[in-house]
Amino acid sequence: MKRTIAIIGGGPAGLMAAEVLSANGHAVTVYEAMPTAARKFLLAGKSGLNITHAEDYSRFVTRFGAAAERLRPALDAFTPKDVRAWASGLGTETFVGSSSRVFPKEMKASPLLRAWLRRLDAQGVRLLTRHRWSGFADGGYEFETSEGRKIARPDAALLALGGASWPRLGSDAAWVPWLRSRRVTVHDFRPANCGFDVAWSEDFRGRFAGEPLKSVVATSEAGAFPGEFVVSRHGIEGSLVYAHAAALRDGLERDGKAQLLVDLAPGRSIERLTWDLARQHGKASLANRLRKGAGLNGIKSALIREIAPAAVRPDPERLAAAIKSLPIPLLRPRPIAEAISSAGGIGLDDVDDGFMVKTLPGLFAAGEMLDWEAPTGGYLLTACLAIGRAAAHGMLAWLAPR
Ligand SMILES: Cc1cc2nc3c(=O)[nH]c(=O)nc-3n(C[C@H](O)[C@H](O)[C@H](O)COP(=O)(O)OP(=O)(O)OC[C@H]3O[C@@H](n4cnc5c(N)ncnc54)[C@H](O)[C@@H]3O)c2cc1C
Repeated sequence: MKRTIAIIGGGPAGLMAAEVLSANGHAVTVYEAMPTAARKFLLAGKSGLNITHAEDYSRFVTRFGAAAERLRPALDAFTPKDVRAWASGLGTETFVGSSSRVFPKEMKASPLLRAWLRRLDAQGVRLLTRHRWSGFADGGYEFETSEGRKIARPDAALLALGGASWPRLGSDAAWVPWLRSRRVTVHDFRPANCGFDVAWSEDFRGRFAGEPLKSVVATSEAGAFPGEFVVSRHGIEGSLVYAHAAALRDGLERDGKAQLLVDLAPGRSIERLTWDLARQHGKASLANRLRKGAGLNGIKSALIREIAPAAVRPDPERLAAAIKSLPIPLLRPRPIAEAISSAGGIGLDDVDDGFMVKTLPGLFAAGEMLDWEAPTGGYLLTACLAIGRAAAHGMLAWLAPR
């Protein structure tokens, strides 16, 4: 039997749910607050659209931290291979890039999104933009539209409103109090995959803001990963920092302090560095000793001067130790509005296996608005698509006997 379904939020999670539900013959309307759908997905395309990851699947599924077990059935049903096949079905071929990240060959999101919206339209999905959900009202869902207030009373609804990062793209988390007032647990949103503030000296900031630190290894409680990051006006940002961001953020919350340990010369052992530094002339400048004894110059050399205490500098052993494990002290995460994604959201214990909100039968939730997080690398989009799909199947199962 054909049912009316409201999908609220037109990002990847909502559109994927709309695809499954319309393919099953239901009358699906997507309500989107912004003038166009999937703005964050399009922005992700600006950096190439890392849509999934080609590492071994048994490793892939561990990337979702405490939520990994809970998300596993959804991911099993829509694996990274399925993501690639799905994109291919929409005319977007993908390739495996550096560190096994998967991107569309065109390195952008717009052709994929255009083809996707065309397919949804052909399947009868109605996309109503400039329809902002403003809460529960009169036994239905209330929307603010250019023609005033409207109420929808669908047979079932799915919220796919996104997290709390980059609110100007639409996901502003305004819904949090409405769900909390219905006794749904919503954990506070926190920045994930974010940069951090560092108290750089004016001199260092002025000379190096915007410069990358390449070929380093960074260590935190999350582990030791090679890569690069950028010194910004405020502190540090970039892919290697994001890989550590959850651990560093949690450390700051727990202990009030956290530091990222950086190995500036991963190719050399501490013994070798000590030996090479000890051979430098004692009266040579620090910059010269770092250049000749450790092969460090530019930003790497300046970072030692910025952070290593003066007492360390003349001592080859202590200087070598600083080069191998330089602690960058962090003040706080950058604001959530700048983060790639957010942690927090609807507690996974508050939704059932089909992603229905336990206390609100007929209302489902999907995507980043649920409480899980993952590093960058295509994990976020894959999980949003997979959960959107799983929630749609959850809704089909719930509707079937009714
Ligand atoms: C700069 C940047 C780059 C990124 N790059 C990548 C990447 O390369 N790979 C990757 O995996 N992930 C990436 N991400 C993360 C990824 O884009 C998100 O995790 C994903 O878009 C979340 O999907 P979603 O459908 O849950 O929510 P969203 O994409 O946030 O969509 C939610 C939708 O709901 C709408 N909405 C919100 N409130 C209302 C309301 N009250 N009424 C109606 N509609 C509403 C919003 O306007 C929005 O369209 C990136 C994020 C950013 C910010």
